[in-house]
Amino acid sequence: MNKKQLTKVLGGAEKLCRKRGARLTARRRTVLELLCASDKPLSAYEILDRMRATTRNPAPPTVYRALDFLLEQGLIHKLESLHAFVGCTHPEHPHSSQFLICGDCGEVSEMENEAILQSLQTAERATGFKTRHPVVELLGTCAQCAEKHQSG
Ligand SMILES: [Zn+2]
Ligand SMILES: [Zn+2]
Repeated sequence: MNKKQLTKVLGGAEKLCRKRGARLTARRRTVLELLCASDKPLSAYEILDRMRATTRNPAPPTVYRALDFLLEQGLIHKLESLHAFVGCTHPEHPHSSQFLICGDCGEVSEMENEAILQSLQTAERATGFKTRHPVVELLGTCAQCAEKHQSG
């Protein structure tokens, strides 16, 4: 996400937290900013590593707690297959997402497809399975990388 989007997302996150009576502390905001500014998902370890640039001795537990808070508030998503986190671009409403993960360049895009959600709900009803995190992760090649493969 570019600088302008980043400012918008961070501003939105602050407003959202204030409305809910949750506190977006400086530490939490930094973690969110790192995730949103990165064009790739970041693991907790990578976040910690990047925080070292600005914070002296950031403690792992504080980063994990910040991540938990941001997940709870729906400001970020966790990608189970990569053990990594991404910033959410539309946290104003609760949603289930699908993630398109490119194995070549590592880029991840989030999409919300109503038809996929409905299919999942139908499958849930049929199997009696209760989904806690209805997150779908699709691993593959993004359009840009696919094009490069073709021309190369
Ligand atoms: Zn999202
Ligand atoms: Zn790619």
